[in-house]
Amino acid sequence: MIYLDNAATTPMKKEVVDAMLPYLYENFGNPSSIYQIAQKNKKAINDAREEVAKYLGAKPSEIYFTSGGTESDNWAIKGIAEANNAKGNHIITSKIEHHAVLHTCEYLEKNGYEVTYLDVDEFGQISIDDLKNAIRDTTILITIMYANNEIGTIMPVREIGEVASENKIIFHTDAVQAVGQISIDVKANKIDLLSLSAHKINGPKGVGALYIRNGIKIENFMHGGGQERGKRGGTENVAGIVGLGVAMKYAYANFERKILHLASLRNKLVEGIIKNIPYTKINGHLSDRLPNNVNISFEFVEGESLLLLLDMNGVCASSGSACTSGSLDPSHVLLSIGLPHEKAHGSVRFTIGSDTTVEDINEVISTLPSIVKRMRDMSPLYENFINQK
Ligand code: PLP
Repeated sequence: MIYLDNAATTPMKKEVVDAMLPYLYENFGNPSSIYQIAQKNKKAINDAREEVAKYLGAKPSEIYFTSGGTESDNWAIKGIAEANNAKGNHIITSKIEHHAVLHTCEYLEKNGYEVTYLDVDEFGQISIDDLKNAIRDTTILITIMYANNEIGTIMPVREIGEVASENKIIFHTDAVQAVGQISIDVKANKIDLLSLSAHKINGPKGVGALYIRNGIKIENFMHGGGQERGKRGGTENVAGIVGLGVAMKYAYANFERKILHLASLRNKLVEGIIKNIPYTKINGHLSDRLPNNVNISFEFVEGESLLLLLDMNGVCASSGSACTSGSLDPSHVLLSIGLPHEKAHGSVRFTIGSDTTVEDINEVISTLPSIVKRMRDMSPLYENFINQK
């Protein structure tokens, strides 16, 4: 199997599983209890908190563990909206956010909040002028993703942070796809809240974190016990949190080398496809782009069918965000960058992981042309196009 769907999820690293196992067996104590086996677990949680904080340029006291990216996004947006509604009811986001952000904003709109959804350009970036123009006296939150999950485009985060801070507006960023692919510094970028998820960085599913800058006023999302300094009740997912801490460490180990490796495989795959298959186009930004993301439109091809044929050849890829695949609607991200429906439908995302090899990429480059040709040979649209040439 050649797994090129690392933006959907990643395989867990052996070191991560090994670190987690004791917390599933002998170290089973509830971290809130006072005896020693329980206190060991409290320490493990706080060690993981330090690890996560270190790679974000944050303080451990600013890291709160959650059940993943979706919860972190929900908490950040609803929690800021609720705690700051005396100041205003306006939120700014972009049209290409993950549904964890978009659907949360839509939910708030039904409850009296106003949301501006910024357009993006053909590469998937918002314009800073549009952002400045969208600001109102009532704007309380800007929530714009660090990097897009479908096309890999990196947003101008530093400039967004500057604008937010100059206007005293809280800035949240969904960095679920950026963590482990970009070095992140929340203070330098004036980020007030940041969401991340363990399963995108070779960690376990169902655990993530929200960075909340000290001093930010936010309402609780989960109400319950005193865990996470009273801000996120619920007995901690100790093994998951330990796994997230270790995954974070490996995500940033030998970082420069890892990024160069990912980017060289990405460039090889892009060149191999574009050179060998006519009527193809890369989607997303060419340079402000995650090192592991390749998103290509194949004209006269149905993306879902291409995925099935790739699967029959042992290649796993995706035609949109993991959470929306299964729906027949074209991706909101691809439509937002201006692709017509048929090109959006013919788009496939390949996302490279730390285990991907040059041989894997060569195999895909040599398999794809014949698959695409087979599909085009069956397409009446392609036949018409060729006949009219
Ligand atoms: N945000 C982005 C950008 C994502 O890509 C994802 C997952 O695909 C999420 C949020 C949701 O994260 P989780 O699966 O941990 O809930």
